[in-house]
Amino acid sequence: MFYWLILFVVIFLAINAVSKNQAKAQRQRAKAEVQKCRICPECAEGIKVEAKKCRYCGISLMQVTEDELAQIDKAYALEISKIENMGVTQPKNKKYQNNDVWK
Ligand SMILES: [Zn+2]
Repeated sequence: MFYWLILFVVIFLAINAVSKNQAKAQRQRAKAEVQKCRICPECAEGIKVEAKKCRYCGISLMQVTEDELAQIDKAYALEISKIENMGVTQPKNKKYQNNDVWK
């Protein structure tokens, strides 16, 4: 009888460990998807901070000012900390979400 109890506890711990690992992997995936980007002034699409040309409409972009970069870094850090603190919340529509979060 006691043997069954131990077996049950071991199985429970194993399942627990697996689900914790899955949550961690999910968080890492979500973090990898968060990118620093800014909004194109011409077509309003999200583009990379380092980009010199918009990949959607092709206009040449001004370099990011330090103020803008600071804002982007802040939004990025916020998004990362959200993922860290509240577990995974995959936005349903990433582009829409990005427009709200970035800049
Ligand atoms: Zn554009």
